[in-house]
Amino acid sequence: MTLHAAPPDRTDVLVVGAGPAGSAAAAWAARAGHEVTLLDAKAFPRDKTCGDGLTPRAIAEMQRLGLLDFLEDRPEIVGLRAAGYGRTWHLPWPGGSLPAVGSVVPREELDTRLAEHAAESGARVATGWRALDVGFDGDRIGSVQIAHKDTVRTVECRRVIVADGVKSPIGARLGRVWHRDTAFGVAARAYVKSEVMHDQWITAHLELRTADNNPQSGYGWLFPIGGGEYNIGVGAMQTAKRPASVNLRRLLQRYYDQRMAGFRFTSSMVRVRSAMLPMGGAVSNVAGPNWMLIGDAAACVNPLNGEGIDYGMETGRVAVELLAETDDYRSAWPALLQQRYGTAFSGARRLAELLTHPDFLRVAGPLGMRSRRLMGVALRVMGNFITPEDNDALARLAHLLGSRSWRSDTRVPFS
Ligand SMILES: Cc1cc2nc3c(=O)[nH]c(=O)nc-3n(C[C@H](O)[C@H](O)[C@H](O)COP(=O)(O)OP(=O)(O)OC[C@H]3O[C@@H](n4cnc5c(N)ncnc54)[C@H](O)[C@@H]3O)c2cc1C
Repeated sequence: MTLHAAPPDRTDVLVVGAGPAGSAAAAWAARAGHEVTLLDAKAFPRDKTCGDGLTPRAIAEMQRLGLLDFLEDRPEIVGLRAAGYGRTWHLPWPGGSLPAVGSVVPREELDTRLAEHAAESGARVATGWRALDVGFDGDRIGSVQIAHKDTVRTVECRRVIVADGVKSPIGARLGRVWHRDTAFGVAARAYVKSEVMHDQWITAHLELRTADNNPQSGYGWLFPIGGGEYNIGVGAMQTAKRPASVNLRRLLQRYYDQRMAGFRFTSSMVRVRSAMLPMGGAVSNVAGPNWMLIGDAAACVNPLNGEGIDYGMETGRVAVELLAETDDYRSAWPALLQQRYGTAFSGARRLAELLTHPDFLRVAGPLGMRSRRLMGVALRVMGNFITPEDNDALARLAHLLGSRSWRSDTRVPFS
């Protein structure tokens, strides 16, 4: 299946960006019978700075796409090993309306498979083509200018799905504004080899410390790719007002040194890279008359754990559902995002903002880690493993608190 198709002169749906969000959108749009072109600036396979963790939400999306066989020989992750403040808890995924299993897949492999799947579903996939600019026909996008090396061309299109990631250059051209006064993440990851060949848990160390032993917001992770290889990383939360002031690479090195004995590393870290994470729908202008922003471009990342592969794939799917319902996405798309994620993101980013206060961490960290039950609750809330279908006491409480938070937001998510 080719990922190097020549872009057409004209297409119905143009999807910009072949990460999980764009490829899922292209696959669903092609399945729904639309004529679709999926572009990515990079040649595939391409790396993407990530922890590579597939949460149960992401597994649910893989299942919907019919891609579970791709995960067959990959690690089957049964839950989270949470460590810190002198304790370690093994917290199984809560299940409920979501699968009780996760996985870890390097992004070169995952994203290539998803782009291939879009092609198999009928999308024309043109990797190596960068969207440069959009041309307007009144207030609607009429064409997109694209380039491959020195060749510049124009593709006419009826609608555009913008899935161009954290920096979202095309989103920015369309008026996207990322609000960095709301908590966002900065994170670094690398790969390391270990003698621990088999691990069914992803590990999160919730107690990070600066060089002078002060609590540092964020967490360190070790996610097993299989065969004794791990994705290792550290992430920190910040806001424009309260920058994390942390040297991520040094923090990562310290984390590696601290975990060396427990995880029996047999290599130094390779492919160290860092990136930012927009979170919790903290962007404005996520739609226009004939375009929608999805995935990281729309800041669809969980503010409490930094996962966004799942939200990327989900937003790809629901954006396509909207294609069939209306011809004007200006208010329909933000409304749909708010309905799905608004209250959860609002509550989560409020808590994430609290976590940027070292004093809060100093008290809440040891307190939370004292109780396994509390950590189980935290996993479910922080991982947003609560869907609208869930109606148990904790789910109802989370919905209630999220709604309260939403009502007191000065700027609600996606606005
Ligand atoms: C260090 C780190 C660790 C993380 N760990 C996890 C994790 O373990 N689990 C998890 O679920 N999430 C994790 N995330 C978040 C996750 O990586 C993102 O949420 C996810 O990749 C979003 O998918 P996307 O498709 O929206 O964007 P991306 O995956 O970034 O894809 C965007 C695509 O658009 C292309 N593009 C950009 N500009 C253009 C253009 N002008 N023209 C054409 N193409 C363009 C890019 O080449 C890219 O392929 C992590 C993030 C970071 C930074």
